Amino acid sequence: MTDIATLYIVPTPIGNLDDISARAIEVLREVSWIAAEDTRHSARLLQHFSIGTKTLSLHEHNEDKRASMLCEKLKNGEAVALISDAGTPLISDPGFILVRRCREQGIPVSALPGPCAAITALSASGLPTDKFIFEGFLPVKMQARENALSALLDRTFTTVFYEAPRRILDTVSDIQKVLGERQLVIAKELTKTFETYVSGTAQDVIDYLQADAAHQKGEFVVMIGPAQVSEQAIPSEAMNLLHTLCEYMPLKKAAAVVASHYDLKKNALYQAGLDSKE
Ligand code: SAM
Repeated sequence: MTDIATLYIVPTPIGNLDDISARAIEVLREVSWIAAEDTRHSARLLQHFSIGTKTLSLHEHNEDKRASMLCEKLKNGEAVALISDAGTPLISDPGFILVRRCREQGIPVSALPGPCAAITALSASGLPTDKFIFEGFLPVKMQARENALSALLDRTFTTVFYEAPRRILDTVSDIQKVLGERQLVIAKELTKTFETYVSGTAQDVIDYLQADAAHQKGEFVVMIGPAQVSEQAIPSEAMNLLHTLCEYMPLKKAAAVVASHYDLKKNALYQAGLDSKE
């Protein structure tokens, strides 16, 4: 009986070809098939690294059918590597249906670590990285986009998303409209010659984008900093607990207990406690 082969998830460079790993090249050379989002686009990369493996397409319009076909190949012992046009497959790219199918059918799936625009941008952004959310692309329709941004009003951690060049200026303007002058970082053309980070308020970023037509071209990751404590409403349960505890202990201590229980800032609770006494 043939052993079931492995599906490899292989990240590819997001700009700088040298970012491909030695292991990625080895896997791409050794598998029986490479499933690529766009075979013509990936042909250039494969040629550059002298990888002669057969390719077939797997994109959002044929993924369902392709997944069944690839699962059969894997069960017949033919290893498959999945790549997308750039970066990590499945991250705002096709592959989820295939991976889920493999998992359901007991086919081994192994992911190689490698380039991903979101993580690359975040790690050099200067925004808090201890907790963050990746939102993919924001909705295109204006109302849906504003609703998605409203969800950030009292979010106390960093938000990362992708944006297309034709929408970047509108998106930053919407951020200003919904979130005011929250700290913002855009990372443009990562790993490429004109890699740029622009950091500041939404107005600073708008000024940069409007300064030169070239500033709105290229690929962008947008990152929005956490709501400041002063912007963040203290939940009523936290205030109730603060008032109750103040009957038994000094405000400073009560504020520290409530802060750790609700993951809030001690100083903000202390100030709210003082304000409510007045
Ligand atoms: N799977 C990819 C990854 O791991 O980053 C993302 C694919 S998604 C279809 C493409 C988006 O990623 C672009 O529109 C842009 O927002 C972002 N992106 C990709 N390469 C980038 C780069 N070199 N610099 C900045 N953003 C990039």
